[in-house]
Amino acid sequence: MPDVSAPTDDETFVVSHPVVGCDGGGGPLGHPLVYLRIEAAGEVVCPYCSRRFVLDPHAAAASGH
Ligand SMILES: [Zn+2]
Repeated sequence: MPDVSAPTDDETFVVSHPVVGCDGGGGPLGHPLVYLRIEAAGEVVCPYCSRRFVLDPHAAAASGH
């Protein structure tokens, strides 16, 4: 299991921090660990494995202060 919240679909992960590390989860889609920053759009797509990381809006609100 990835150390993030349960995926909302096959390739979307809800995370509580705007910087996420992705290594593709191993297997055929595995790749070197990269760090992705979620910008104002609230999501980022890994350029290696096309996983989509969405920032939990509740976490974003909590960290805003
Ligand atoms: Zn990736």
